[in-house]
Amino acid sequence: MNTSKNDQFTQRVQTVYEHTEALYESVRQAGVWQNPQLIISCLEELRLALEQLQVAEEELRQQNEALISAHEMISIEQQRYRDLFDFAPDGYVVSDLHGVIREANQIAAALLNIEQKYLLGKPLANFVPESQRRSFRIVLNQLPTIQRVQEWELLMRRRNGETFNAALTVETVYDFGRQPIGLRWLIRDITARKQAEAQLQQVQLQNLELLETDRLKNQFIANISHELRTPLNAILGFTELMQRYVEQENAQQENAQQQNSRHPHLQLSGMIERIFRNGRHLLALIEELLDFSRLKAERLKLNVEPFDIVELVRQVVEETRPLADSKALEIRVDAAQACIAVVNDPVRVRQILVNLLSNAIKFTDKGSVTVEVGELPDEKIVLMVQDTGIGIAEEDLPYIFSEFWQVNPSTTRSQGGTGLGLAIVRAIVELMQGCISVDSQLDRGTTVRIEIPQWLFTDAANLFGREILPDR
Ligand code: ADP
Repeated sequence: MNTSKNDQFTQRVQTVYEHTEALYESVRQAGVWQNPQLIISCLEELRLALEQLQVAEEELRQQNEALISAHEMISIEQQRYRDLFDFAPDGYVVSDLHGVIREANQIAAALLNIEQKYLLGKPLANFVPESQRRSFRIVLNQLPTIQRVQEWELLMRRRNGETFNAALTVETVYDFGRQPIGLRWLIRDITARKQAEAQLQQVQLQNLELLETDRLKNQFIANISHELRTPLNAILGFTELMQRYVEQENAQQENAQQQNSRHPHLQLSGMIERIFRNGRHLLALIEELLDFSRLKAERLKLNVEPFDIVELVRQVVEETRPLADSKALEIRVDAAQACIAVVNDPVRVRQILVNLLSNAIKFTDKGSVTVEVGELPDEKIVLMVQDTGIGIAEEDLPYIFSEFWQVNPSTTRSQGGTGLGLAIVRAIVELMQGCISVDSQLDRGTTVRIEIPQWLFTDAANLFGREILPDR
């Protein structure tokens, strides 16, 4: 009931009481029959009192109606709370301060594998395995002071003995005097989440192991390539000396006119030539492996300088022409201009071209190989190497830049190659902040297209202080 209305009502009853009291006093002192006027006054007072009572009664009735509707509202709210409580997606429990269950919803009962009604009166500790009970009690005792615990991860035990990972959020409930009177528990089964976390951890661990293996592999490639390169350079050096010596000997013997078609020195010269050729080939492979390991370790640095890219393309094409001639392939340069100035790393641009051209020649048996070079509008250079060779199947195209990948390893092995060429080309192009794409059709040919910046400056090329290997 509203306080001011309450006061008014009391006031009215008080007034009626006072009037009646005054009337009684008058009648008692004077006697009614000596003073008829008093009877009239008495009746008047009574009527007034009656009216006051009627007003008071009306107010009482109104207040009663208000009370009834407030009560209905409370019942609706209670039902709503009950529904929320019962049909909430998580387990809800209300307990006293000792953790003895007073209310529990259906999900809580399902989680703990027990009928809802049998949960009431049971301590929640019953559903915690012995191993966890001590820590459970410690937190329980502290709850009235700490007020709230969020996402408290705990192992819980269903009635059938099965355990599950639970996340508990607990809140202390207070009465109007701020005295703690109970606890509200939200129980969530997080077994699936825990399993996913464990799996993720496992995958992360495996990933780290893979990264470490990869690092070791790259380290091994780098070391072994270094180790191989030094003696190989010595072998090549001495082979060159031997070749010169044999050529001198041959010349002297020719002068002495000792004609012999199967002269041992001529045979020796051929053998040395083969040692030299194979040695050079081996060295090229080792250089490729070294480049690859430097790129992997992000230790490759671009040495930027100005040069004419059309001239460079023509040079590389001339160098590879003998190889194309040996397969009767036409090889040509298609340049938009006579010369195009660029600022980039000429050694690495040459390496890109050599790799692409040797692939184009290697995988083409008839027809032609064309290198196109030109400028693009936004200060970019386009390089395209086009062949009329065996082509690459559509399903193989996604793997073309993968390290050590070859369409047909057995065929490619007979042609030479490590499966690193395109991987290195792509890595260098990316280091130059350029892009590369391949277009190919089986039995029709392949086009590799590269776009690189025309003006590449050292800061960008250094790529934020990457370490420089001394022996580039
Ligand atoms: P490889 O050292 O084996 O040539 P690459 O990385 O340069 O390694 O090329 C990977 C594979 O892609 C090759 O083995 C070959 O199967 C295919 N490939 C590359 N370029 C061409 C091309 N121009 N025509 C057809 N196939 C090619």
